[in-house]
Amino acid sequence: MIRWKAIAAVSLFSACTWAQAADSVPHWGYEGHGGADHWSELDKAFEVCKIGKTQSPIDIVTAQVESVAGAPIKPAYKSSPAKLANNGHTIVVHLADGGSVTVPSGTYKAVQFHFHAPSEEKIDGKSFPMVAHIVHSNDAGKLAVIAVLFNEGAENAALKEIFAALPAKEGEQPIKPFDTTALLPATLPYFAFEGSLTTPPCSEGVAWQVLKTPSTMSAAQIEAFRKIFPMNARPVQPLNGRKVTVTQ
Ligand SMILES: [Zn+2]
Repeated sequence: MIRWKAIAAVSLFSACTWAQAADSVPHWGYEGHGGADHWSELDKAFEVCKIGKTQSPIDIVTAQVESVAGAPIKPAYKSSPAKLANNGHTIVVHLADGGSVTVPSGTYKAVQFHFHAPSEEKIDGKSFPMVAHIVHSNDAGKLAVIAVLFNEGAENAALKEIFAALPAKEGEQPIKPFDTTALLPATLPYFAFEGSLTTPPCSEGVAWQVLKTPSTMSAAQIEAFRKIFPMNARPVQPLNGRKVTVTQ
């Protein structure tokens, strides 16, 4: 049985799926009065966007990351019924039963993935044209995100159908089943750190894994997204002494 209601409830607390549907949710965006510098002023519930000490995204300074012999990321994704949505902030693919992933902090179910242009995370001060955030949740409600960075290059075959028909208007529609395994690059070394949602309410306690190996999208695929969302990346946030590790 596909439990879309349960998925929707989880998504409400997931990075970047904060829907505008509820009238009580104030308008936020990426520029002007609703821009990232003002999120904390829009609602008391967004306060942590300003006062939080472990906010995302961050600039990963590779000379300062600690190499650890940590556990590899173990994806166990599977083909899942899926819905494609434009939530007014990004394009999201909601997964009804997308399998799971095991990262150092535990095993999490895949809930959805979505995109930012340019990438929110930087590596040595450099952003990438796009990033996908694969959002996962465990039974306790803790979130883990895996970020897949994209350079401009070969067309991304896994995203071919989705990016050929990105919804320009808000709403959602069923699409063909999707297996998130197809989004991952061939090797999975990763940077890891504790962070937050990168959108209001900027909740902390999110386990971040940024894959070191970028994937590619074609110029046309990147352009198709940017035509709808020209810029939907939060600026990098202070590290505040957090440790960033790299696992090969
Ligand atoms: Zn995101």
